[in-house]
Amino acid sequence: MSFAASLAQSIAGLNVAQQEAVNYMHGPCLVLAGAGSGKTRVITHKIGRLIQAGMQPDQVAAITFTNKAAAEMRERAKSLIGKSAKGVLICTFHALGVRLLRQDGRVLGLKPQFSILDSDDVTSILKDAGGSTDAATARQWQWAISLWKNQGLNAAQAEAQARAPEEVSLARIMARYEERLTAYQSVDFDDLISLPLKLLRDHPEVRERWQAALRHVLVDEYQDTNATQYELLKLLVGERGRFTAVGDDDQSIYGWRGATLDNLKRLPEEYPTLKVVKLEQNYRSTSAILRAANNVIGPNPKLYPKTLFSELGEGEPVRVIDCDNEEHEAERTVARIQSLRAGSGDTPHREWRDFAVLYRANHLAKPFEKALRKAQIPYKVSGGQSFFDRAEVKDLCAWLRLMVNNNDDPAFMRAITSPKRGIGHTTLGSLGTFASQYKLSLFESLLSHSLGSVVPAKTLGSLQEFGRCVNDLEYRARHTVGAEASLAFLLEWLKDIGYEQHLYDAEDSEQVAAARWTNVMDFCEWMAQRSGGQIDDTAGVTTAAETKTLLEVVQTIALLSTISERQQDQNVITLSTLHAAKGLEWPHVMLAGCVEGMLPFKMDDEHGAGSENMLLRLQEERRLMYVGITRAQRTLAVTWVRRRKKGRDYIAGVPSRFITEMALDKTTVKEDPREKLKALRAEFAKRAADQALANSGD
Ligand code: ATP
Ligand code: MG
Repeated sequence: MSFAASLAQSIAGLNVAQQEAVNYMHGPCLVLAGAGSGKTRVITHKIGRLIQAGMQPDQVAAITFTNKAAAEMRERAKSLIGKSAKGVLICTFHALGVRLLRQDGRVLGLKPQFSILDSDDVTSILKDAGGSTDAATARQWQWAISLWKNQGLNAAQAEAQARAPEEVSLARIMARYEERLTAYQSVDFDDLISLPLKLLRDHPEVRERWQAALRHVLVDEYQDTNATQYELLKLLVGERGRFTAVGDDDQSIYGWRGATLDNLKRLPEEYPTLKVVKLEQNYRSTSAILRAANNVIGPNPKLYPKTLFSELGEGEPVRVIDCDNEEHEAERTVARIQSLRAGSGDTPHREWRDFAVLYRANHLAKPFEKALRKAQIPYKVSGGQSFFDRAEVKDLCAWLRLMVNNNDDPAFMRAITSPKRGIGHTTLGSLGTFASQYKLSLFESLLSHSLGSVVPAKTLGSLQEFGRCVNDLEYRARHTVGAEASLAFLLEWLKDIGYEQHLYDAEDSEQVAAARWTNVMDFCEWMAQRSGGQIDDTAGVTTAAETKTLLEVVQTIALLSTISERQQDQNVITLSTLHAAKGLEWPHVMLAGCVEGMLPFKMDDEHGAGSENMLLRLQEERRLMYVGITRAQRTLAVTWVRRRKKGRDYIAGVPSRFITEMALDKTTVKEDPREKLKALRAEFAKRAADQALANSGD
């Protein structure tokens, strides 16, 4: 069947309301609906429909909340419309920002080779800018400055509106921070939204070009956009307002990071012709699960009233499982997974990928990881520590960043000390003073004739040697294209700088060093593949058809959180935070840690228990629970513990109020003891099989 025919068939498979949203192409459209009602599906089909209606693929942009969601959407679009999906810009707001800045940032004085700083870089720059050695203080500043930036304020504006003296002094630190970023030709994450906004707002010629280039913009998870993202969207789509936003006010869970539901309220006011489509059928969950979800979200005030029904049947009752402590919780969860997987006679064998364990905070993953390892069940942790946060990967990224952008001082500091090349802190201190005195970047200082007056001749030699090395690498990287050549280049580079030896010297344990070296190899292979243009998932910044030089690949790294973002098809159990589970679904979901203080998260507040602030936070926690429940397709269990760790102490666990709010049928909630028996049987059967296998090998 041709793609046109199969697309038509797919669209015909949507319900009437979904089709209405897909076929409405000439003006602003908002799809407002509860979880699992097919909002994301509307977006993928509408991409196809727009192209079928005559738009060029590169005139359509779809914005997702994570890179992973972008990768998934690209896959779906490809299966709907084939190769032309490659031309569609499918990415996050941040990746879109990179594209805008790379193309037009010059207008703002930003070179196309600008660096994107990660959160650690920002912390250390702020320490320096604010004259503090305390990382915790610097992170508080970071947080406050980020909120200002998300409200669209720069340092001067923040100072003008400051009320308390602390705010004034913070605004001044922000000013020094901004100066440093300009000097380093670097941007932070918030800049990836606020600078493109400034670009489009203040430069009509750039704005008009982008508006002409993009004829329709689609936005998923619209409820979690913040004020600057909304403004950026408005400028991108212009007055004609050709966009499709889909969202659910009940799933807004990023208020703590500046997202605001005002964006939902403002749409109908600012676009009077807005077409609002509501979807009511949930295609994801059984009625039992959906009822629990609706009951939980019930007490929250309604922005837009919604009803949601499912035709998937009543299904298994939602289970509540009480546990002694966190280890016990992990054991019981694993037992449940094994029992569900073994299934009963008439239910088919299930895959590991059908299961997810979701929790409020990253550190809760530990006991589950242990229990799963013990049971030899494969799993992945998503939303946890990122591959790119590992020291060795950061070292290499620093080198690569410095090659791309010589002015990137944070990258310079890291690269010159990994591996250490006989250049100590005193030298770096003198170099820093010299650089700021002459308003040069650290790298530029290396080339200055007068540097010899502040560092001894021998050290000067090592410094200049480092500079030559970076220049030489940069030259070679610029001319390296394609996967094979890139890999060869990377391996040679690592050999040149003696990185493997450096890892073994730095680690006491050979095993740890070897593991770190494996990460380095993984990283190199992954980088090489990307520059070969073989991979679709390029943080959404370029399309698969393009091959890129290594240097171009480097710029997109900062946007990624995990190297395995594309490996969704692995047959493993998912462990994930609730926040990272947004938009996803699994047949079987276990919500862990449903105790007061964890979900809802601890609610102490200087304004007292009944304060407005507390109430709003509780509502956001409730939405988080709603998001968790609605990830489940067929079965859902919530677990809580009687005794939980808090720091070093144990405290009594009280079941989450949300469990009561789910209003489950009392007679059915307790876990069926037969499940445990089934799990035991499955375990015995497995052991017997293993034993038989072992014996047969004798
Ligand atoms: P969330 O609010 O969690 O992001 P959503 O509204 O985006 O959910 P989707 O993920 O698009 O919902 O759809 C949920 C599930 O229902 C998916 O498995 C999807 O394939 C399926 N689905 C959506 N619409 C239909 C339909 N018309 N017919 C059959 N299945 C559908
Ligand atoms: Mg969705």
